Parts: sequence; C-alpha cells; structure tokens
Amino acid sequence: MAESDIAPVLTTRRDEAMGFIERMVSKGLGWARKYSLFTYPYATACCGMEFMSVSSARHDIARFGAEFPRFSPRQADMLMVIGTINLKQAPILKRVYEQMCEPKWVVAFGVCASSGGFYDNYAVLQGIDRIIPVDVYIPGCPPRPEQVLDGLKLLQDKIANQTHRVGHRGTTPHDLMAQNYSLTK
Ligand code: SF4
Repeated sequence: MAESDIAPVLTTRRDEAMGFIERMVSKGLGWARKYSLFTYPYATACCGMEFMSVSSARHDIARFGAEFPRFSPRQADMLMVIGTINLKQAPILKRVYEQMCEPKWVVAFGVCASSGGFYDNYAVLQGIDRIIPVDVYIPGCPPRPEQVLDGLKLLQDKIANQTHRVGHRGTTPHDLMAQNYSLTK
C-alpha cells in the first residue's frame, strides 16, 4: 500500500476551521453571487451567434440571473470566452482577465475556446487554459443554448460551494493559478 493511502486526512485546513457565522455569511454571499453574474462576452467568432441566442427571449439567460453583458472588465465577474482565440489576441484576453476584480470566473464557450477546436495550427491558441484559469468548459461547435445554460448552472453550483468572505484581501485561488501560469509561460 502506498504511503499516501495511509496518511491521515488533514483536519486543520482553514476552511474547516471556519466558524458558524462565517459559514452562514459565506453561504449567503455564494447564493447572492451565483444569481447576479455580470458577463464580459469576449466574442471573437461564430459561437457569438449562440451567445446572442442564449441571451434572447427563447432561451432567456435572464432566468438564471446572468442577463447583463458588461463591456468593461471592471464591471464584470464572469468572463465568457466565445470563439477562436488566436495567438495575437491571447495577450489581450489575458489583460482583460487581469483587469477583472475578484471574485471572478471564466467560462470557455465552445471547443475553439476550450481546446483550439479543429484549428490545430500555428496561429490559434490551443485552449484558453494555456493563459488563464478556466472554471467551466462548454463543449460543442457551436454549443447549443441548452448546453450553455447547463454550463452556467454548473458554474452556479461551483460558486455556491466556494468559500466567500467579506472584504477578503488575501491571495485567492485564481491569484495562485495566475502566478503559476505566468511562471510556466
Ligand atoms: S467552436 Fe465552432 S462555432 Fe464556435 S467559434 Fe469554433 S468553429 Fe465557430
């Protein structure tokens, strides 16, 4: 048996040491944040049509509290990367991500954003997770609006289960991931 299999589970993690009030506040903030997502639609290609479809009346993303697109990264907390990202655009996407305030979440919309899709060539970024952390990947070329809503619900579950703090100024998981990304770049 490997040593890692018999190692005791650490019980001193900070999350587990949270008090009752702190847990209730975190739950309330998580509930509020998951139903008030402000989207920055970084749309570059054909998937943009599907974003329009999911935002309009038939599929109505407003039912999930994510209806307001914001075209300033400082006013958005969900970055939706919609379409093919080529290498010339990669630094711009990274800057947009860095300009967003915490807490923030990233959705890769369609296979081009998730993995480069069928553009397996020298000009296209083979997945946005090479430069920024991604929370939810939505497959499809393009994904149907139902898939997008499904991805949104996955993200909402993730947000609800995260730890939220009032006025937290420490290093966030996204900060750590972003540091690792810049180190490995
Ligand atoms: S995933 Fe398909 S539909 Fe979406 S941007 Fe790429 S090629 Fe276009």
